[in-house]
Amino acid sequence: MPSFDFDLFVIGAGSAGVRLSRMAAQRGVRVGIAEPAALGGTCVNAGCIPKKLYSYAAGYAEAFHESAGYGWRGVAPTLDWDALKKARAKEIERLNEIYGQMLKGAGAKLFEGYARIEGPHTVAVANKHRISAEHIVIATGGEPLVPDVPGREFVVTSEKMFDLDPFPKRLVVVGGGYIACEFASIFNGLGSKVTLIQRGGAVLNGFDGEVRTFIASEMGRAGVEIHLNTTVASITKRKDGTLCVASSQGAQHEADVVLYATGRGPNTDDMGLEAAGVKLATNGAVVVDAHYRSSVPSIHAIGDVSSRMQLTPVALGEAMALLEHLFGDGKRKMDYEFIPTAVFTHPNIGTVGMTEENARKEFPGEDDIVVFRADFRALRHTLSGSEERTFVKLVVQKKTDRVVGLHMVGPEAGEVVQGFAIALRAGATKALFDSTIGIHPTVAEEFVTLRTPVAKGE
Ligand code: NDP
Repeated sequence: MPSFDFDLFVIGAGSAGVRLSRMAAQRGVRVGIAEPAALGGTCVNAGCIPKKLYSYAAGYAEAFHESAGYGWRGVAPTLDWDALKKARAKEIERLNEIYGQMLKGAGAKLFEGYARIEGPHTVAVANKHRISAEHIVIATGGEPLVPDVPGREFVVTSEKMFDLDPFPKRLVVVGGGYIACEFASIFNGLGSKVTLIQRGGAVLNGFDGEVRTFIASEMGRAGVEIHLNTTVASITKRKDGTLCVASSQGAQHEADVVLYATGRGPNTDDMGLEAAGVKLATNGAVVVDAHYRSSVPSIHAIGDVSSRMQLTPVALGEAMALLEHLFGDGKRKMDYEFIPTAVFTHPNIGTVGMTEENARKEFPGEDDIVVFRADFRALRHTLSGSEERTFVKLVVQKKTDRVVGLHMVGPEAGEVVQGFAIALRAGATKALFDSTIGIHPTVAEEFVTLRTPVAKGE
């Protein structure tokens, strides 16, 4: 048996890397982990956490506005952008420290620096440390992809949005995915004039068709100007600093900031992977088998770098499955079915299971799928003066009566759908939904009171 410096060496201290290192070290595995930047990766530093904090900040603007309908009087407060940035930075720093303490407490050794793979069992960190390990795990996450458009040098990507200086009065967002829609909603709420440019005919590709139309309409109602079927021809900068986004369709949009949110790709550059024999897909993702093993048996990859689903909880699930595979009984598997997800637009989207379109493809018989839906004004908005509407939808396989898809656009949709995700995974039928007593008055009770199927063609 060769003796190694570590049993496990993890490259990247984001969601997946920290979870794996911490849990393995707690079991007595000798763990090293390398990270050149702040601990916690994209989620903690430039993704989920700061994004959700800013989403809360934007939510207050709506609440101040709506409170008048409930009898509150007084001038609406204005946003102190610098105060918000400082508060966020302080909280993120606190989380960075907690991550460091968790690793240390578990007994994992942190190497601060960029790691390159030199062989099946060898890693060099910051050209300073040469480390050997029985298992190497790549958990380096992803990074924004920006297409090669003229004026590319003037645009920013999402991680820059949290510290913009000054606050952008006019924001153009290019893209129509999770990040584009979330940031469009957030900055619209915080007070920017937001224009969203999407190349396709709807936002949020991959989501249920009705959800895509509904959220675009609600974002539009809230003030986001959405241009569909539009592509960017160029971005130019005027002397006064104004950015001009010219569309191929002939329109011009002025902005203080242009955000490109056109997808994220795996972080595998300059890591020595190909030289070490690690096979990469055409998009640069590490190709792995069902146990996250790369083409080099001692090297595994988890999280966004292996590009299955770019979601933090998926990365955490993969870390736990790999932990069991390498150091446990191997029984724990990551189940990629019925993964719930939320988009923190205003209003939020929550979804689990199949879209109606996918369900109809999966069960193609004319009457195989039954759909139930409601579109209504929530009780809160009867007095708030807001015209915001809420959308709920169930997709049911007729033969089994199983609810195969559940979709919501409305307040706290992520919180609501998390609970229903368990029911869907357990195979809940529509009859079970019908026999469940609602909690009144809530928005979520609509899911158990949907009685009339949508008629064909409606
Ligand atoms: P997405 O893949 O969600 O969306 C990319 C968008 O950019 C799509 O609308 C796509 O258009 C468009 N696009 C792609 N290439 C181009 C191009 N060359 N020119 C113009 N438009 C283009 O990526 P995001 O960057 O929004 O987010 C990355 C991932 O991060 C997400 O997939 C998600 O998994 C994760 N994420 C999750 C969040 C959450 O859980 N709440 C929040 C934020 C991110 P088209 O629709 O036509 O393909």
